Amino acid sequence: MAIKVCKFGGTSMASGNIILAAAKIIESDQDRRFVVVSAPGKRFSGDIKVTDLLYKCADEVESGDIAAFKETFGKIRVRFTNIEAEIGKDLHINDGLDEAENEILSGAGRDYCASRGEFLAAKIMAAVLDVPFVDATEFIRFDENGGLDKATFELGAKVLSKYSRAVIPGFYGLGADGKVKTFSRGGGDISGSVVARSVMASLYENWTDVSGFYVCDPRIVNSPKWIPELTYQELRELSYMGANVLHSESIFPVRSAGIPIRICNTFKPEDAGTYIVKNSTRDIRGYVVTGIAGKKDFTSITLEKSLMNSEVGFVQKVLAVIGRHGISFEHLPSGIDTMSLVIDNEFLKNGMLETLLQEMQEAVHPDKIYVHENIALVATVGHGMAKNVGTSARLFKALSEVGINVNMIDQGSSELNIIVGVDNADCANCIKAIYNEFFN
Ligand code: ASP
Repeated sequence: MAIKVCKFGGTSMASGNIILAAAKIIESDQDRRFVVVSAPGKRFSGDIKVTDLLYKCADEVESGDIAAFKETFGKIRVRFTNIEAEIGKDLHINDGLDEAENEILSGAGRDYCASRGEFLAAKIMAAVLDVPFVDATEFIRFDENGGLDKATFELGAKVLSKYSRAVIPGFYGLGADGKVKTFSRGGGDISGSVVARSVMASLYENWTDVSGFYVCDPRIVNSPKWIPELTYQELRELSYMGANVLHSESIFPVRSAGIPIRICNTFKPEDAGTYIVKNSTRDIRGYVVTGIAGKKDFTSITLEKSLMNSEVGFVQKVLAVIGRHGISFEHLPSGIDTMSLVIDNEFLKNGMLETLLQEMQEAVHPDKIYVHENIALVATVGHGMAKNVGTSARLFKALSEVGINVNMIDQGSSELNIIVGVDNADCANCIKAIYNEFFN
């Protein structure tokens, strides 16, 4: 029998009725044997995700404001008891909530606190389906550097082989210190991928609230075209650049085993969704661009120095400056006598930009340093670009026709993407212009 792993995201776990609908989806296919769940997410716009409430609880405990913690935890209690009432079964949810509250108050830590949404949601789904609950700490392990421990897949295979079906909480595992540790936000997608790899699933289904990937953000272009299939590489480029249907790191566990991912819509289960595969089966002649995504708030620092090209170690010295402060860069376009570093604004807060400029001045004595703030990066992604002559000419012509000034250009060496830097204010129009050129 084939094994499918299904991961249900926060909106698919948001209320008792939606959880019942998700359970129906799982039960409609006997191959859907391992289920990974997120914490209850938003039911409507303006609602608060359980995970966000839990992080608020952690902040309140850390600052010693126990009255505020009790109030916030009370909101979480209401969310879960409402879910239990809607499901119409005694799931002993108050016992689980009491245990979590006591542990948090006795110093279990921030990650433990944040993980309880998934823990309780998985307990609920396991009871609804009447299948065993397996805690993620039993096999998802992190190493000393916070990365996924190599032993995870083997351990996962061993632990999960004891079950023909199971429900597993997403988002966390066990840290090297023996305590609960979470992935980064949205990391339930990575947990689903880890489970899929551990049981060598034939398919990893990621159930969410959209019917897959669209060529670009529907908030920017009205009803953009749907993408039936993406490769792992295309997915990584698009999700890293802001297409947030799936966590950008979720391909890593399944990639080496070539397990395909399917994005499915819990609210429209009959929709085909988007498949994410190792090698594209699409006819390259039929499309040039697969998707377009943009991310705002970057800064570019450009250093200019005569004869920079012959100065050995110039770039290395500049990179040492940012490395010292634990800062990574997104792009490094360079000319004969210039080099630029494009850095996420997140790294440059609280005077860090000024510190870097001064240290770069001292390290390499450039003739000039220019800073360009508030840049958006827009990535046009697709394996088809490498095979279709004139793609970049079409792209830049489309941007010039709508008067968009391009500050930076970077074409990945695999010819999988063309990234342009534009002003933040031009980001949406840039995406629209590229979409119109290639899809209208
Ligand atoms: N609940 C976590 C979050 O909100 C993880 C997830 O949903 O995947 O980030």
